[in-house]
Formats: sequence, C-alpha cells, structure tokens
Amino acid sequence: MFIAEYENGEWGNLQVLPYGPIPLSPAISALHYGQAIFEGMKAYRQADGKISVFRADKNFERFNKSAVRMAMPTIPEEVFMQGIAALIKTDEAWVPNQEGYSLYLRPVMFATDPYLGVRASEKYIFAVLTTPTGPYYSKALKVKIETEYTRADEGGVGYAKTAGNYARSLYPFAQAVKEGFDQLIWTDAVTHEFIEEAGTANLIFVIDGKLVTPSVRNTVLDGVTRDTIIQLAKKAGIEVEERRVSVKEVIQGIENGQLTDAFAAGTAATVTPIGEISYQGKLYQLTDPATRTVSAGIAKTLNDIRYGLAPDEFGWNW
Ligand code: PMP
Repeated sequence: MFIAEYENGEWGNLQVLPYGPIPLSPAISALHYGQAIFEGMKAYRQADGKISVFRADKNFERFNKSAVRMAMPTIPEEVFMQGIAALIKTDEAWVPNQEGYSLYLRPVMFATDPYLGVRASEKYIFAVLTTPTGPYYSKALKVKIETEYTRADEGGVGYAKTAGNYARSLYPFAQAVKEGFDQLIWTDAVTHEFIEEAGTANLIFVIDGKLVTPSVRNTVLDGVTRDTIIQLAKKAGIEVEERRVSVKEVIQGIENGQLTDAFAAGTAATVTPIGEISYQGKLYQLTDPATRTVSAGIAKTLNDIRYGLAPDEFGWNW
C-alpha cells in the first residue's frame, strides 16, 4: 500500500509499505464525524504487456473536489500520481493479463485527529490499496426505482465520493436485495420523479436512438465511465442528451418500445445491461440484452482502448 501523511499543513512521509493494519486511536475524527473520501480506478495489462491506468487524471480531479467539499486538504497531483505509479511498480505481477480483469486501485483519505470536538481534522492519512479484480456483474440487472429513501439532496454531498453517501445507501440497498433486486435506481429527494443514478454507477438509456443520461448535478457523482461513454458515442455519431430524465419517460419508453437500451456505467460495473425495472410494485421487462447494439458497441470500444487493442485517440491511458 502507498501511504502519505498530512500534518502541519503539508503532505509528507510518503512510503510504499506491505499491506496491513495501521495503528490508530479510536478517537480519530474520521470514525466520529465521517471525514473520509475515496476513489476507484483500474490498471490494465495492455496487449504489449505494459500497464496503463485509465483516466487517472479524472479520478485525481474528483478526489480533490470531494476533499474540498468535506473540508479536507487537497492532495498535490504528484503525490497522488507518483504514489500510484510507485505502488503499481511494486505490485506489477498482480496486474492480470486476461481481458475483463484488471488491478483495482483504491485511493482513500481520512481524518486522523484524535479529537472529539466537532471541527475539521488537522491531520489526515492518504493511502492507496490495490486488488486484482474481475467482472462485477455477470448478468443483466433487475433494479428497483427507489421512491422512499434517497441518496443525495440539493446542497448536500452527492457529488463527492465520501463515505457517508455509501453508508446511507446500505439499508435501502439491503431492503431491495431482500425483495429480490440486484440494485437500486435513486430518484431526486424532492419529487422522486427524476432519475439520478444507480448504487455505484451512472445510468444511461437509449431512447429514440439517442443516448440519454441524467445530467451531472450536485446530487450525482460525475462518473468517469459516463463521461468516457458520452465522448465515444458522440465520436460514433450518436446524438447525446444530458438532461433531467423523468421516471415517467423511462416507463413510457419501455411500454411503447422507444427505450431500446439501458445500462449502468461505472469503473466496477463497466457497462452492465439493465434487464428489468420495478416501479411502484410493477415489474417492467426491457429489451433482450442480446439485441442491444449501442451499449455492446460502446463497451467493446471502451475495453479495446483500455487493453491497448484499439488506438487511444483521446489519450486516456496513463
Ligand atoms: N455513481 C456512484 C455513486 C459511484 O460510486 C460510482 C463509482 N465510482 C459511479 C457513479 C461511477 O463512477 P466512475 O465511472 O467514475 O467509476
């Protein structure tokens, strides 16, 4: 693991260490007041044997956006990037050389002041962990449109990749799993009429041949995979609409056949088709995932770039 420590206003003590426990006080403020942020990205073994990290610069930017919102110090680009590079060099043999597999990288920062007063911590640890990983979901998802619980609200921290966003999602997620669903679709906290995103992925639909996705707002995480797919779709000549997407138009689209594709997009999920959507107790069957040429085409292009099988025209591989 890579570790750096923040103290007296600066980052220092940068080290690559064997993965293992870190002795910490039970009073550290991350545990009590939740100053904790993370990122998720992957290193891929290229066709020529080299290793590249996909769009690490975007994860770096988002990490610091999360840090600012959570009143945490930002991290200099060289600490983040060189830390990751040093760690991958050490862990090189753990990067799988099979398509669909990669080395998952998990940067995390948390507050370490052993101080029980409520205030922003003055000390932090930044760490990067790695683990080899394979496909996340193996089948089309059965999802539920959630209209009781919410993930994020206006003025809140939905756009930050911070621990509390995941903590608050666990109970509703567990309820959905109990009801037989694989994942939730979150709706807006005010009206529950607009679709926001899925559990750990953004949502993309194909309606009337256009790629339609909820716009990134302060309640939605600005996904790297979502952004990548939008760019690839535009390049392929597909019209893209980033806007508010209502539950009503999705349900109507399923009923009248205009919605031909729906998928979750994220680093872990990559591109995972949605097979069934439940709304207000009714289950709607989407098109057969085998017929979905738009998402299949984009997913293939994306994977080919990641594994160095197609030219990296956008300069995404680092
Ligand atoms: N939304 C949420 C809530 C997530 O946790 C993730 C995973 N980071 C995403 C969307 C997808 O983002 P990305 O494509 O950057 O992994």
